[in-house]
Amino acid sequence: MNLTDRHKASQTPGRRLAAARAILTRAAVDALLLTSRPSNRYYAGFSGSTSLVLIDAERARIYVDGRYVLQAGEEATGFEVVHAPRPLSSLLDDLSDRGVRRLGVEETDLDLATQRQIEAHGKLGNLELVAAGSLLAEPRMLKDAGEIAAIRRAAAIADEALTRVIPLMQPGVTERQIAARLEYEMRLLGAEEASFQTIVASGVRSALPHGVASMKALEAGDAVVIDFGARYDGYCSDMTRTIFIETAPAALRELYQLVLEAQETCLAGIRAGITGAEGDRLARDVIERAGYGAAFDHSTGHSLGLEIHEAPRLAATFTDPIPAGVLMTVEPGVYIAGLGGIRIEDLVLITPEGHENLTSSPKELLVT
Ligand code: ZN
Ligand code: ZN
Repeated sequence: MNLTDRHKASQTPGRRLAAARAILTRAAVDALLLTSRPSNRYYAGFSGSTSLVLIDAERARIYVDGRYVLQAGEEATGFEVVHAPRPLSSLLDDLSDRGVRRLGVEETDLDLATQRQIEAHGKLGNLELVAAGSLLAEPRMLKDAGEIAAIRRAAAIADEALTRVIPLMQPGVTERQIAARLEYEMRLLGAEEASFQTIVASGVRSALPHGVASMKALEAGDAVVIDFGARYDGYCSDMTRTIFIETAPAALRELYQLVLEAQETCLAGIRAGITGAEGDRLARDVIERAGYGAAFDHSTGHSLGLEIHEAPRLAATFTDPIPAGVLMTVEPGVYIAGLGGIRIEDLVLITPEGHENLTSSPKELLVT
């Protein structure tokens, strides 16, 4: 992060702290305890790996051990940095001093050991833990300009890395080598890391929707599903292309055109105001009509940000309208055991009129 970026980032904590304080009222809690790394980063601006954040109506504190005092002071604008050898104990002392009775927590992140320690803290006998995870996730759905810029950059890095790696996709090269080259190129292009474990699944393995790269060598006639992304300034990108090695068998060629049609139909219809379920239907109808409904066994898309999977989703279970300003993947796929699979995934920004596609790699069937 350069100085200009840091200046920009320093303007957001006030808004985010206000959003967290609005949750105090909505969840009817005295304080919020943020344990997850994405929440610590989002609400307090702290990018280190270990910290605890406590927010109540008057105070905003970040508890760190000696490794992170300087960093927290630099990054967590508007937060009081508490340097504690045992951050949780220190935080629990503060809770009892403040007479906190209802504490909002991230229920999917709070581990049993931490929970036990909270419960064992003698003076906190009456403390009630309240699930506040989905309320805390809500403000993260709509990305601000700085977040969109980071994701746009991450998507561009992934596109460029793929362009550089496609010429290496030849028979005899292993899936793992392709994954390693993609991740290496992304790092050279400025990514912090891959945004998740790179998927390179070739031949019959391409029928595994999440086939993490193996030692299998690419062979002529393989469909190769490459699903990967970059992390830039903390933010993830996500894209998938399916590329054929030397020749594309007729059956897979047909499936490729079907998945592409489903993906482009969804892209053509997606815009602010449609529900996640309606968006999912746009792609699924095309695949079901062709008789492959059972072979498309995952949802059509998901949002992302500091985490690779965030709400909302393009899924039957998501019946709320999607607002403008949400990032969404559109990634239908068809997977046939013993034959192979096809997936095509773009990352788009939802707008009132439709979408802006942040993924630029071509989608015409590509044979190396
Ligand atoms: Zn993906
Ligand atoms: Zn995805």
